[in-house]
Amino acid sequence: MKKNKPKETEKISTAKPATKTKKVSKAVPTKIVKKEESRECVTHKWVPLVGNDKGKNVPTFLFTCLNCGDLKVGTQTIKISRYRLDMGELPMNSIAGIKLMNGPSVDATASGLIIGADIETNVQGIGAPLFMKANGFLAAANATTSATAPCVGLAMDSGTGNKRVLLHGVFRLDAWAWSTGPGTAGLIYLDISTGTLTQLRPSGTDQVIQPVGWALASNCIYFMPSMMYLTHI
Ligand SMILES: [Zn+2]
Repeated sequence: MKKNKPKETEKISTAKPATKTKKVSKAVPTKIVKKEESRECVTHKWVPLVGNDKGKNVPTFLFTCLNCGDLKVGTQTIKISRYRLDMGELPMNSIAGIKLMNGPSVDATASGLIIGADIETNVQGIGAPLFMKANGFLAAANATTSATAPCVGLAMDSGTGNKRVLLHGVFRLDAWAWSTGPGTAGLIYLDISTGTLTQLRPSGTDQVIQPVGWALASNCIYFMPSMMYLTHI
């Protein structure tokens, strides 16, 4: 495979029709490329990259824009430059650190460590805290007793079955109205109402006191559920 790659790259340039090749070379001067990278392309002009199969040039599923140089596979645009690589809203600039969205630009979405897991019950839907049952399924958590706690994740989808669950990260839900602040003011706990979070620390007998995160904004939390929790006497 590795031996073939340089060959394919060579073939790509020779395989292009003469007119298109001319257009590419016109757009290539460094100053223009830098300018194009700094703004969004108004109208992409996609052309498929050409591969070589048994001596025959064939179009591939990888496209490039003749105007800005973006790539796409199918409908997914990939932005690549010397300093960034992304297929979403957040560029990957360096693998030395992971940057999360604060907050996510869309309601009821998250940025962080996400898994797919089997949800047994979740009437409350997106944003519901979940606990792990003895049968290995997740279900909407409740701080009334430790039998329905601790919260280990937040539902990113409504309904049951295999769904996305946030284990750690930033979650935005516009229906929330959190207070931010120092001390316990900004802390968020598992609530004694099923599938709900609260900023009122549970205070009844046997109730679970588990901080699961803190408020970044009225509609946004940093979810980092504590595995150390107290049960009220
Ligand atoms: Zn473009």
